[in-house]
Amino acid sequence: MPTAAYMTYPQLVHRLRRLADLAPDLVRLEVIGKSRLGRDLFVVTLTDAATGSPLDKPAVLVDGNIHAGEVCASSAVVYWIERLVEERDRDPVVRELLRTRTVYAIPRIAVDGAEVYLTTPARLRSSPHLYPHTTPPDGFVEDDVNGDGRILWMRVPAEDGAYAVDEIDPRVMRPRQPGEIGGVYYHVFPEGRVVRTSQGGARPAASSARDVRLHGMDFNRNFPIRWAGESGQSGAGPFPLSEPELRALADFIQAHPNIAAYAALHTSGGVILRQPSTGDDTVLSPLDRALFTEVARMGERETGYFSGSNYEKFATGHEAVLMPGAADDWMYDHLGVLSFTVELWDLRRRAGARGYGEIGMRKMMALTVEERLEDERKVVDYVAREFPDAYTPWTLFDHPDFGRVEIGGLDPKFVIQNPPPALLEEECDRVGRFLTRLGLSTARLVVSGISVEPVAEGVYRVIAEVANAGFLPTASTKKGRDLALEGIRAELRGASEILAGASPCELDHLDGYGFHGTWRLPVHQRAHVEWVVRGAPGAFIEVRFSTPRAGRATASVALP
Ligand SMILES: [Zn+2]
Repeated sequence: MPTAAYMTYPQLVHRLRRLADLAPDLVRLEVIGKSRLGRDLFVVTLTDAATGSPLDKPAVLVDGNIHAGEVCASSAVVYWIERLVEERDRDPVVRELLRTRTVYAIPRIAVDGAEVYLTTPARLRSSPHLYPHTTPPDGFVEDDVNGDGRILWMRVPAEDGAYAVDEIDPRVMRPRQPGEIGGVYYHVFPEGRVVRTSQGGARPAASSARDVRLHGMDFNRNFPIRWAGESGQSGAGPFPLSEPELRALADFIQAHPNIAAYAALHTSGGVILRQPSTGDDTVLSPLDRALFTEVARMGERETGYFSGSNYEKFATGHEAVLMPGAADDWMYDHLGVLSFTVELWDLRRRAGARGYGEIGMRKMMALTVEERLEDERKVVDYVAREFPDAYTPWTLFDHPDFGRVEIGGLDPKFVIQNPPPALLEEECDRVGRFLTRLGLSTARLVVSGISVEPVAEGVYRVIAEVANAGFLPTASTKKGRDLALEGIRAELRGASEILAGASPCELDHLDGYGFHGTWRLPVHQRAHVEWVVRGAPGAFIEVRFSTPRAGRATASVALP
């Protein structure tokens, strides 16, 4: 059995190469481009080569770690594909996935940022290049000032402090109440220091230093969907797809029209996020609403996570546009692909506290100070009890900028943002089960009937019927059908002449079994096509149906 692990870039590449060597009949490892710092970006293609080439089968694309710190996402992608290879002969579900579908897996997109995250104390959103500034400005930057390898929290006693030590659990800092006096109050902010180009003058106060984002690029705000620029969305980048990593991803997607489903793995929240992002579910067509909600609910059952729309979980009511430039929105809105963002790991739920994955950001913001404190006590208590290495008690430190401070708190990397190593495999396993079923939800063409009848000497009528045996429509979604230029291509071969009917000809897209009204016949799941041909008795007529997001199906029949 594979073992889930956190991997540096060399470790990740080693594991992918080993997998490709282990199963050359199933696995193809390719480079789709280079990162800003010149690292190769890998895609793993998995399918059973004996049953067709990758492009001839409908595909699920899974990527991870587009955000540098969300490293458990790449662990989950690698663990999943290793499991698929390992279980192909044992598990009929896996065998069917690899027999009839293609998996494209891009374990790590933010290869440069993740390396910084994994090998230094720094936390960063996506990429280690300087953005949005062109030269580092003066101000407060996060830094591991006490050299313990982590960037934790600092508390600095101050008359104008906004926090006090919690009376119930002194490990927790509680907000200072309106009009409250007479206690010891603190500023609480991340561990860091003040960068000053001029070394003279007074030492800046903790609360007067400007918060500087040195590495503020956000890859998941850089896609060409409602892109808002830095003024409308921090991290948006200078223009859509300005980042080489994302350009490579977009080019890959364009070159693989068989991609019919997509999941972007992130952390944290323990939630499967679906469309829509622009309003409540009524902004989706009835078909797409049914497809998204049913697949997301399947995901809930497979993973034990929550599910809901991006809008339901993230909207606060104050945003002009919700998360402009995100990959899942681009994949659905512009390409019509059934797309999900999966947020792994839910520390708050593990601790018995409320999280946005369950109740959404709007309700999170409406929690009272007491309710928030209640939850925070639970989280600190859970971590200190279960993962004591991930909790650092407040410890005195003589800070070069702020004087006597205390540093402590929860490990932001491997208990807040990512699961502690002991829980990583469980998390990867849950997500993999969803990804496998997501792949198997895509459309799949099958020939449901073929017949030949003689109509005159050496002249025959050929009737063939094609069906979609998958859950999704052959265009992936209703949106995909609206955007698609081509439907299903039908071809006939083996006749000496076609007297009536065209080959190739085009049929409309088909629904899958995923949209079944109670009183509605499944009439849009099948279509038939007819030709009148001349041919020699005994000659084989082959009929072939194909469409990129549902694969191809062929059948043949001998002329009587
Ligand atoms: Zn993320």
